[in-house]
Amino acid sequence: MTRKVNVEALLAEVRACQICAAHLPHGPRPIVQLGASARLVIIGQAPGSKVHASGVPWQDDSGNRLREWTGLDSKTFYDPARVALLPIGFCYPGAGDGADLPPRPECAPLWHARLLAALPPSRLTLLVGIHAQAYYLKASPKRTMTEAVRSFAEHLPTYFPLPHPSWRSTGWTRKNPWFAADVLSALRAAVRDAVA
Ligand code: SF4
Repeated sequence: MTRKVNVEALLAEVRACQICAAHLPHGPRPIVQLGASARLVIIGQAPGSKVHASGVPWQDDSGNRLREWTGLDSKTFYDPARVALLPIGFCYPGAGDGADLPPRPECAPLWHARLLAALPPSRLTLLVGIHAQAYYLKASPKRTMTEAVRSFAEHLPTYFPLPHPSWRSTGWTRKNPWFAADVLSALRAAVRDAVA
């Protein structure tokens, strides 16, 4: 019960955060989902413009692709008691040169450790995209995203590295057929265990 109160207080603190407001062209709108019993954590990049407008994490084409990869239905995906959704940057950073800007660097060091400390110690964390992998797989900074995903078994049972499921991943999955052949079945099994 105490833990639940703490999580709610912490989430209220996150939602009031203005730390990098001066660098956010659309203003702060932290988008996070977390409950104290979640044993699956999905760490993505940062909300895009659609998610910034709706306030619902992963409610876009990337989210649909991620749900298909993981085998999670929407009901489970959006259940904070089972799944925590924490991007590396909680607010939409805006766009430049035809693509979203990288997540704000202030965010993860400020919030992640505090939020993750509220979760059960035994959990699976999906590291979705290069920003999440650079932050959490510090031991191998020169590894490309493709190498990190291909060697996913080295990081289990704690982490599961994945490509970002943006439209670009369609070409990447075509070039790397081992992802659909070998990685997705292991991903779905690990995710099933974590949300069981
Ligand atoms: S991106 Fe993170 S640190 Fe910056 S205002 Fe949003 S919640 Fe705060």
